[in-house]
Amino acid sequence: MDLAAAPPALLTRRHLHIAGDWADPSSDDTVPVENPATASIIGEVPAGTPADVDRAVAAARAAFPGWAATAPEQRAAHLDRLHTALAARADEIARTVATELGTPLKLATRVQAGLPLKVLRSMVDLAARPAAEHTVGNSLVVREPVGVVGAITPWNYPLHQVVAKVAPALAAGCTVVLKPSELTPLTAYLLFDAITDAGLPPGVVNLVPGTGPVVGEALAAHPDVDLVSFTGSTATGRRIAHLAAERIARVSLELGGKSANIVLADADLPTAVKVGVGNALLNSGQTCTAWTRMLVHRDRYDEALDLVAAAVAGYRLGDPFDPATRLGPLASAAQARRVRDHVDRALADGARLVAGGPDAPLPPQGHFVAPTVFADVHPDSALAQEEVFGPVLAVIPFADTDEAVAIANNSRYGLAGAVWSADPDAALAVARRMRTGQVDVNGGAFNPLAPFGGYKQSGLGRELGAYGVEEFTELKAIQR
Ligand code: NAD
Repeated sequence: MDLAAAPPALLTRRHLHIAGDWADPSSDDTVPVENPATASIIGEVPAGTPADVDRAVAAARAAFPGWAATAPEQRAAHLDRLHTALAARADEIARTVATELGTPLKLATRVQAGLPLKVLRSMVDLAARPAAEHTVGNSLVVREPVGVVGAITPWNYPLHQVVAKVAPALAAGCTVVLKPSELTPLTAYLLFDAITDAGLPPGVVNLVPGTGPVVGEALAAHPDVDLVSFTGSTATGRRIAHLAAERIARVSLELGGKSANIVLADADLPTAVKVGVGNALLNSGQTCTAWTRMLVHRDRYDEALDLVAAAVAGYRLGDPFDPATRLGPLASAAQARRVRDHVDRALADGARLVAGGPDAPLPPQGHFVAPTVFADVHPDSALAQEEVFGPVLAVIPFADTDEAVAIANNSRYGLAGAVWSADPDAALAVARRMRTGQVDVNGGAFNPLAPFGGYKQSGLGRELGAYGVEEFTELKAIQR
């Protein structure tokens, strides 16, 4: 075994991070951390309490006036040092995510460690720019930081989702209390190791690990939190919006998706299918933007199904630290169970199994689910409507472009999507008709400066780029 690629040793963390220092938790209770590839416990972190949240919010409140008044170029310099400290930990980040989430190491290196570094770099540049001001008639319109931010994040991209909140909040002049997912807290600790090395001012970013119902709710309901920035399931987003509504606090919500990949009749089919399958299976399908519905023109449908089956056969399940592995486990036993239930329900609903399924071979231990493809999925069925959050693809035929757009928009979600066509103008026209926050045309690359977020029940607000920084500001009009 390549020792450099070995999982980190037992990983236990005992502290919170409050007011610039490691701090003792108020309770001895802990949350275990599991390696989902082996189903063994690999460490533990403190189970934070509402009293811990109070201390962290007080530290963020105390730090707010100073950080808000810090010159943009100085805030940018702090973020630049944080980028350097985080980049120095890229290997450790990738190995930790591979261990506590199960992302194959190669993908963890490229995406789980690489993407947040790119996003943080973009925020260094944006932080250096003074907030835009403009004049309307006799009014000077200015943007000011919203205040103390409560950030609550999920487990599927455990550093990216944290950086996508913390970096723009800091760039805007806000201070933050972070509650990372209890399934992947160890990655968040690496960010705080980097924050310590970078010497960020005390209280500017604070960490309270723990469970959603205890720490998450205390943060969302806290009277001194001005904005709750949440990424996770739509059900939890709804709960957080309720809690924040009690005191009319602002919320940003990045929620679920059921994104459509529309393959028009003149598309480059091998490329569209290869990229489409890769997107649907990325991170074992635990990706909110995953194109989980592949919509294919009837003239190319059978050809596409053969290509899909062949592509899926190339995804080898196994140990995230084995270089031959292309698909790791799901994040938890509960997640694997939920995905298997979706597969059983799709079979009961009459969808045609093309690959994988309940009887496909699996590694002997860990929370694995075989990559699974269903054809002839009814657009109204549960599989086409509900977010599975696992390696399950639904293929649906369509007769013409109007029907493709209607099926794509037949969703309570509206996060992402894709269109493939030999005619770029035709593809763009379809992209404009899709009711989603992002659409990729012919495999257009992810852009960390583009606004990211959802229509409908996929969320409220936008992350990333200048739009992501604005999310953490208030507008003020000064009449003269
Ligand atoms: P989740 O909603 O269960 O948990 C997300 C976070 O919320 C965790 O930190 C959790 O502890 C916390 N939480 C849980 N209950 C809470 C409560 N009552 N009050 C406050 N906080 C609470 O979601 P998950 O299982 O961690 O993540 C999977 C879901 O997230 C999927 O539905 C996926 O689509 C969505 N997601 C969306 C995006 C996006 O950007 N739109 C990104 C990643 C994941």
